[in-house]
Amino acid sequence: MDLTEKEILEKLDSGEIRIFEIEKYTDTANHATDIRRKYIENKTGVDLNHISKYSIDMTDTSKKNIENPIGTVQVPVGVAGPLLIHTEDEEIETYIPLATTEGALLASINRGCSAIRRSGGCNVAILANQMTRAPVLKTKSVTDAKKLKDWIKEHFDEIKEKAESTTSHGKLLKIDPIAIVGRFVYPRFVYETGDSMGMNMVTIATEESLKYIEKENDISILALSGNFCIDKKPSALNLIEGRGKSVVAEVVVPKEVVEKTLKTTTDAIVEVNYAKNLLGSAIAGSYGYNAHYANIVAALFIATGQDPAHVVEGSIGITSAENNDGDLYFSITLPDLPVATVGGGTRLETATEALNLLDAKGSDKVERYASIVGGSVLAGELSLIGALAAGHLARAHKKLGR
Ligand code: NAP
Repeated sequence: MDLTEKEILEKLDSGEIRIFEIEKYTDTANHATDIRRKYIENKTGVDLNHISKYSIDMTDTSKKNIENPIGTVQVPVGVAGPLLIHTEDEEIETYIPLATTEGALLASINRGCSAIRRSGGCNVAILANQMTRAPVLKTKSVTDAKKLKDWIKEHFDEIKEKAESTTSHGKLLKIDPIAIVGRFVYPRFVYETGDSMGMNMVTIATEESLKYIEKENDISILALSGNFCIDKKPSALNLIEGRGKSVVAEVVVPKEVVEKTLKTTTDAIVEVNYAKNLLGSAIAGSYGYNAHYANIVAALFIATGQDPAHVVEGSIGITSAENNDGDLYFSITLPDLPVATVGGGTRLETATEALNLLDAKGSDKVERYASIVGGSVLAGELSLIGALAAGHLARAHKKLGR
């Protein structure tokens, strides 16, 4: 039943319509969005003029990506590059779209891309594609907990069949590790999820297999996620086992490029990396043995419609730097990168454009996309550690000069 805007606003005021019901009474989802925003503006007296301006279609967005929409936020997007990457399958040369409000970030990544290009490009390898879900199951005793763990291992094939019955792309690779705390059991379901990030996929699949586990065992399912997954929290488990796509990238920067482009020396970079990224992170108890993976991951995630909350996982990883006969060997590892080229926020119009810029939209593109994230993080990390090393050298020269 369509109502006029005026009627809907009046019924919202009187409580006859609630703010999540507006779509039922309008012709389009975009119209519902505008009415909801006007209602909030009237109620609060706050002007939402900029939030009101958007070009995306809310029809699917309000069903799949957001509830109660009132508009969009605008984050500036820039480009860095071109970035030159060699993978097992292809050579990639691309500009990188990055959305951020942090001044100097793109300039720094751009400089890293330039150093990589002058070094003949970087190498990137995808080590794994494995999204996880780990429920918490309650048994009657520690003995039953141990029995359940053994039962799950023995019945893997049947559990796999149940899980995979809900998806045509997901594959259950293993249920491992299975942790036990007292009488609680935490089986970690590990899936290959193709080009999707896979959280919805593996949640549905795990739920289906739990019905079977529950039917065959005297247990109760306490929560579909028992935090042993572990989703959107920093963790040693994800650093060691990996989650999402696991990516490594490396570059050998010739001595002359270190000096001319990064304006420092190989030894200065190696020492800063050792003292800051390795020792400093160790005394802080950090899982991010790096300078700023989160900066690059966040900017790429926002531009390309990834789930921004996963930056907390994408910030985990280790940077290494070595003196290679005077040249600089530099690498980054991203063990925990939940990314997609289908599903989730990648379907949004702006994300689609950004992914198209990378030629990384749709099926069979996720490895290319993950490789580009790896190369971009390498560029950003190289540039920042280079800048810190250049500052350290400059200060040393100044002191010696005096
Ligand atoms: P999705 O939007 O449901 O997309 C995944 C689905 O796309 C797959 O299940 C698959 O269907 C289909 N698909 C089509 N082509 C594919 C291809 N080439 N490779 C793989 N799959 C393909 O979402 P998702 O990736 O599972 O999860 C992403 C969303 O989850 C994000 O919006 C994120 O914010 C949200 N999220 C959810 C949770 C949670 O606990 N539920 C937690 C964190 C984030 P079939 O399975 O039928 O093959």
